[in-house]
Amino acid sequence: MNQKVTVIGAGRMGSALATALYKRKFDTTVWNRTSSKTESLSRLGLRVGPRLLEAVGNAEIVIVNVNNYQSTNQLVRQPAIESALRGKVLVQLSSGTPDEAREMESWARARGIDYLDGAIVNYPADIGKPEGTVLYSGPEELFHRVEPVLLAFGDNAMFVGKEIGQASASDIAVLSFAMGTMLGFLHGYILYEAENLPAGGYLQLVKKLMPAMEAALADLSNKIQGKNYGNTQAALETWAVAPRELIGWCEKHRVNHTFADPQLLLIERAVKAGKGQLDLAYLYEVLKQGGD
Ligand code: NAP
Repeated sequence: MNQKVTVIGAGRMGSALATALYKRKFDTTVWNRTSSKTESLSRLGLRVGPRLLEAVGNAEIVIVNVNNYQSTNQLVRQPAIESALRGKVLVQLSSGTPDEAREMESWARARGIDYLDGAIVNYPADIGKPEGTVLYSGPEELFHRVEPVLLAFGDNAMFVGKEIGQASASDIAVLSFAMGTMLGFLHGYILYEAENLPAGGYLQLVKKLMPAMEAALADLSNKIQGKNYGNTQAALETWAVAPRELIGWCEKHRVNHTFADPQLLLIERAVKAGKGQLDLAYLYEVLKQGGD
């Protein structure tokens, strides 16, 4: 495998991507705006492009991983770089929105650049390991053409759809789940410690609940798909107790409860609309109604 790959961006994630490619024996070049950040990669043996144009010119596949699409645009939308990219494959791995991906695809198509949009789900430490997960969207044939390169980042190089915005859409949906779960975990941690429960016990407790949580998510999904909110084991009025008690506890202990407030607000909105005896899945409909 000696395909020439260039990685633009050597931050935490870009460095991990470039290192993974190098370890898989791809002919890897890396470029970063701040050159000092590539020193450790150079010591490892990677080729460091002194100038962006050379780094792009040297590659068959160019992978971008900078902070966002705005920075990507600043870097690649220069006439010389656009010419150097013509006929090559550009894989965008900076986080962004579906609209940004669509806009970037139009730009690439007009310049004869084969464009694939991707979204990284893991931390840099997972890149190059079997659990490494990156979502891709765009032309399926293009995905399969460069798949051997993409597999350097982990075993889960997942093609999620032909519409270019679908990778970032999937990523935002996953991040919504991850952020909600992790913030809830942090909140619970404060409560656990303050009530003198054993350190580390909270994690053990939460881990034991994971199979039930998986079943609960499947149940929510089934109810949403079937628009069947009436059949429930715990009605919204019962669920209201959870955020109400958490908020009360936080107020008493002077702990921030801005994470719990919207949970109670959403349930109360449903209850006021006469839906208090429906399942928690009904909040999907409340969220879709918009409004703050
Ligand atoms: P980071 O360590 O802060 O690195 C940011 C990178 O963007 C650096 O290479 C930086 O270059 C570059 N950059 C910023 N502004 C730029 C500009 N105007 N022009 C050119 N380059 C610019 O961030 P990171 O954690 O590697 O994240 C990079 C991307 O991966 C983000 O889109 C992030 O959402 C995504 N991601 C990260 C993780 C993670 O766990 N870290 C997970 C999934 C996805 P300089 O060194 O010159 O500043």
